[in-house]
Amino acid sequence: MQVELIELVEGRARFLLRGVTPAFANAIRRACLAEVPSLAIDEISIYDNTSVLFDEQLSLRLGLVPIKADDLSLFRVPEECECGGAGCPACQVGMTLSAEGPCTVHSGDLRFSDPGVKVVFEKIPIAILGEGEKLMLEGIVTLNRGTVHAKWQAGTQCGYKNLPEITISDRCEGCGKCVEVCPRKVLVIGEGEGKVRVHDPISCSLCKLCIGECDVGAINVSAVEDVFVMKIDTDGSMPAKDLVTGAAGEIRRRATSLSQQLSDLA
Ligand code: SF4
Ligand code: SF4
Ligand SMILES: [Zn+2]
Repeated sequence: MQVELIELVEGRARFLLRGVTPAFANAIRRACLAEVPSLAIDEISIYDNTSVLFDEQLSLRLGLVPIKADDLSLFRVPEECECGGAGCPACQVGMTLSAEGPCTVHSGDLRFSDPGVKVVFEKIPIAILGEGEKLMLEGIVTLNRGTVHAKWQAGTQCGYKNLPEITISDRCEGCGKCVEVCPRKVLVIGEGEGKVRVHDPISCSLCKLCIGECDVGAINVSAVEDVFVMKIDTDGSMPAKDLVTGAAGEIRRRATSLSQQLSDLA
């Protein structure tokens, strides 16, 4: 297997996986979506809510606020914590929210008992409070996985496709019809060029509209079977690099466990 990085910024990774099966590419995608633990508000106790929002709506909004930690490795999933899930600084972080209208309550108004824990985005609107309306609540932030609930899903858009391969034969007359029909601007004909050329093959969606437009059959588009373009975006609670390496680590952990159990049976 070979990995070729295309783009890596804080919350986004694009890379090529060469020499793998669709099942392996899909395992990486699924692990990025649901297997890498992240933080989320898990339980809340509402002491005062005179806003127009029902308690349930408020809870739902708070649960979906992305939360990050300076060092996520300090935290444990409650069931895997040394305290057995009873509650300790490694598996629970306290959270409070107190506000009185008129104002708009934002995610940045949440206060955490651990100074290393913060919301990813300060300006997510939680509620609009009218004159004299109040919100007072406290809650618990825990680490868990997307398999338990989508609020612990750090991967947002995680997908893959086969690497497109586009070939142009000598029959090309440079008419430009394929360039015009391509919705992804993959093809170009430069000034003075008598033939179309492929400008950005990775953006190709394999729609094959270009093939249908070519009267002389000069263009062909196919998918490379064992090369995948991986696209991984996070909710900002962790860098995309950590999400992908965490996903790969989870797959390795499971494979090692399976191997161990099978050898124990033998
Ligand atoms: S439509 Fe066919 S002939 Fe025209 S530019 Fe494209 S590949 Fe060449
Ligand atoms: S298959 Fe679709 S996206 Fe790809 S080059 Fe042809 S028209 Fe463009
Ligand atoms: Zn604990």
